[in-house]
Amino acid sequence: MSSGFIAPGATLGVMGGGQLGRMFAHAAQQGGYRVAVLDPDATSPAGSIAHEHMQAGYLDAAALERLATLCAAVTTEFENVPAEALATLARSRPVAPGADAVAICQDRTAEKAAFARAGVACAPYAVIGSAADLDHVADALLPGILKTARLGYDGKGQRRIDDRAGLARAFAELGGVTCVLEQRLALVAEISVIVARGAHGEIVALPVQENIHRDGILAITRVPALAVDAARQAEAVALARRVAESIGYVGVLCVELFVLAGGALVANEMAPRPHNSGHYSIDACDLSQFDLQVRAMTGAPLVTPRQHSPAVMLNLLGDLWFAGGTAAAVEPPWERILALPGAHLHLYGKQEPRAGRKMGHLTLTAATAAAAESRARSAAAILGLAGG
Ligand code: ATP
Ligand code: MG
Repeated sequence: MSSGFIAPGATLGVMGGGQLGRMFAHAAQQGGYRVAVLDPDATSPAGSIAHEHMQAGYLDAAALERLATLCAAVTTEFENVPAEALATLARSRPVAPGADAVAICQDRTAEKAAFARAGVACAPYAVIGSAADLDHVADALLPGILKTARLGYDGKGQRRIDDRAGLARAFAELGGVTCVLEQRLALVAEISVIVARGAHGEIVALPVQENIHRDGILAITRVPALAVDAARQAEAVALARRVAESIGYVGVLCVELFVLAGGALVANEMAPRPHNSGHYSIDACDLSQFDLQVRAMTGAPLVTPRQHSPAVMLNLLGDLWFAGGTAAAVEPPWERILALPGAHLHLYGKQEPRAGRKMGHLTLTAATAAAAESRARSAAAILGLAGG
């Protein structure tokens, strides 16, 4: 990225029109920027609120050219945007994060190599490129988790493996594509760290997030992360900073970490963009992860965010619309949720609720962590969600 500050009034581009793009657009628009979204979907969450929505494929040459002409800088809201498209844009405009960094995050083998280069530990693993590799898998990796090297998200493209027969079956089920087999670790907790790094190497971090997953999908984030002590949290932030520095990252980066018995930290994966676990920062911090994304790409000063309220975030999946066991979708009781003090309801404008689909999130803030927990329990009870 060049060094100049891109002042409000300019148009910022985002590749991808999902909820992360939508919340990016909200932050950019609040700061006086115009926003252009490139997404093939006619009704994307971000496209519908942007100043301009280019409805085209990510490699559409005319759309990329228009984006480059219109925008002072471009970012991305999902890691599977073709790195080639970012490289094309980068020939004429600052692009943050860059194509190389995004390419690393698109491939679990490249990602693990990047962690290793940064001196950050991962779960023991093996790359399985073909059925022939299955025979060479060390016994120590079982029981394990087989993950496709590319294109996995929300637990999709993953299988839990108990034995060798199961491994061969799962590899075939996943289509015989390149996978990594990771040893299944006993997790004491899961945390994530979001950092923002500017073009001149300055870095700031959000507080450490504690995450609870259900069925491979993030369900709950709580900040402060009560499951991890302060020293471990500082270590987690240092690891994330080291990864960002070592890959020369510019933009917002999230590193997901496992906490093992005894306190060891192991990196799981990273996302070259704001992350679901950082959504609480919109309502609980004086600078959100989306504000940081805007600042990093416009060359604005990166100021350390301050969390002003303890928070618990609950993901709102499409399942909630069918909580009563009905075949037709029924809108959840939002009025009762809005009656809770400290409730911040975010809905992404998706037309069709489906099981496992992220429709929105709810952040409960309070003066103390205990009060935020208690409000989250009330909200979960109203919605029929399993409690935290
Ligand atoms: P997302 O994109 O939503 O973060 P994903 O599909 O990329 O998810 P991972 O983050 O790799 O998948 O894994 C999803 C969840 O599965 C983790 O948050 C963790 O709960 C569990 N998991 C993954 N790898 C391991 C492992 N090696 N040992 C134990 N649990 C694991
Ligand atoms: Mg993950």
